Amino acid sequence: MIVAKRKPFEEIKHFLKGYKKVLNVGCGTCVAVCLAGGEKEVSVLNAELDMARKIDDNPIEISGITIERQCDREYLEVLDAKVGEYEALLSMACGAGIQFLAERYPNIPVFPAVDTTFIGVNQAVGWYEERCRSCSSCVLGQTGGICPVTLCAKGLYNGPCGGTNKGSCEIDSNQPCAWYMIYERLKGQGRLECILEITPANDWQNQTPRTVIQPGYSKPETAGK
Ligand code: SF4
Ligand code: SF4
Repeated sequence: MIVAKRKPFEEIKHFLKGYKKVLNVGCGTCVAVCLAGGEKEVSVLNAELDMARKIDDNPIEISGITIERQCDREYLEVLDAKVGEYEALLSMACGAGIQFLAERYPNIPVFPAVDTTFIGVNQAVGWYEERCRSCSSCVLGQTGGICPVTLCAKGLYNGPCGGTNKGSCEIDSNQPCAWYMIYERLKGQGRLECILEITPANDWQNQTPRTVIQPGYSKPETAGK
């Protein structure tokens, strides 16, 4: 899932300084699970903003709505009839959701209320760990299912580096060496030969906005592109 955290309150308050009527739009998917931007977080932030603006003698009329997913056009539709009433929108979705919202309502300023952090997993309650940087060249098949881009301090596709030290990383001895873990995992699977396979330098495909069109969903005009 995509993990995010709420922006510092003062930053959000600063965004909205000049606006009197604002709609805060939450997202009911990833950011709700990581307690950053779901229905409850929308209510809490709105109450904080309402109180702070009253104290500043600059009251704000702030409403909230949480939709299923902001990164999906189908769910944004419910906002069409509402947004015209507001001077600005606040979004508690991930960066993709915020941009989709801004694209749908280009004449209304849209401000982010969360910082999108990474693609990760939920290790325990409130403990999220990064596991993927969307590199577009997944090597998990050769690395025993351990991501070197995310878990190796140098993001090495081929490792370990010369600094690996009895299972720890040279950059931080409290951090396990990703390539040591990969070695151990492959050894346990009887697939150690995989560590000798050289992965060529990456084209760094994630420097441009990438697009994925699932073949089953492609429209005639996009098929074959
Ligand atoms: S190698 Fe790592 S960063 Fe790249 S796609 Fe696979 S899990 Fe994600
Ligand atoms: S010691 Fe291991 S995890 Fe650390 S940078 Fe080198 S290969 Fe990567």
